[in-house]
Amino acid sequence: MNILVTGGAGYIGSHTVKMLNKMGKNVVVYDNLVKGHRAAVKCPNFVEGDIFDSEKLEWTIKNYNIDSVVHFAAYSLVGESMEKPQMYYYNNVQGTLNLLDVMLKNNVKKLVFSSTAAVYGEPERVPITEDISKNPTNVYGKTKLIMENAMEDYSRSYGLKYIALRYFNACGADVEGDIGEDHSPETHLIPLVLQTCLGKRESIKIFGDDYNTKDGTCVRDYIHVNDLAEAHILALEALYEGRDSNVYNLGNGNGFTVKEIIEAAEEVTGINIKKEIAPRRAGDPAVLIASSDKIKRELNWNPKFTDIKKIIETAWRWHKNHPNGYGDK
Ligand code: UDP
Repeated sequence: MNILVTGGAGYIGSHTVKMLNKMGKNVVVYDNLVKGHRAAVKCPNFVEGDIFDSEKLEWTIKNYNIDSVVHFAAYSLVGESMEKPQMYYYNNVQGTLNLLDVMLKNNVKKLVFSSTAAVYGEPERVPITEDISKNPTNVYGKTKLIMENAMEDYSRSYGLKYIALRYFNACGADVEGDIGEDHSPETHLIPLVLQTCLGKRESIKIFGDDYNTKDGTCVRDYIHVNDLAEAHILALEALYEGRDSNVYNLGNGNGFTVKEIIEAAEEVTGINIKKEIAPRRAGDPAVLIASSDKIKRELNWNPKFTDIKKIIETAWRWHKNHPNGYGDK
């Protein structure tokens, strides 16, 4: 296995790379460092490059004898995608199409693709299984669905073998504490809550308390980043075993409201968090809870972090020890 990881300096990418490297796999990280962090890359091979740079991509594939790709490099913020759709279609769709062109040209036909629960939109039922209808309510989800559809067509016509992993809410940090979540600007709930605990923010805004949920705030399925990382490795192994293209959800199967997450963080940190009710955020569905039965059944995925407080504890350790993240942005 010689694996190219685009976006390997980002949050989920860096955790996957660290795990692959620990397992002794040959990994090359390819990242333009616009969002990613050089210090997050815990493997010897790093190429600073953009997915639009076909020449550099091709050089990397040839130089490292790449035979599979894990493609994380993308923009992934729901709110931003509603404000700047052009940026999202360009990077997530055109950029990925370019990567696929280079892969096919160089006969690299195994791909693990970062997709998202946002492809479902307001789900017709929960827990969400992979087969329900997909009506994304935000641009981010639309760009990922477009690419899933393109890969399905490429799979049929060009022999591409891909596994798309639809993440629910990635969170937490590696238990060794050397890598974690560092986005700028930060928009995700758990890091924002923990930054509030650290006094870096005045208060946490709750985006809407009039949803049709038990306490009026949105319900999400929070999944530990190392459980996600493990799923990528299982997906890669499946592709090397010759399995067919497929799509899997990755979640915990438990839903927590925004208020419940804040309460859990208060318990973990022992700090009282100041909250404010704010308007709804555009593009947010009320409830997203995964059924991950398919990947458990077919790839033997077995998430280790099922307790939300344990997950928040790992994130808290990272944020407490790295109040400025990697300190490079
Ligand atoms: N959220 C919130 N306040 C914040 C950030 C997020 O109330 O400052 C809510 C958001 O509306 C959503 C949930 O927390 O219902 C998770 O949002 P996040 O951005 O972490 O992940 P997403 O669900 O967008 O992938």
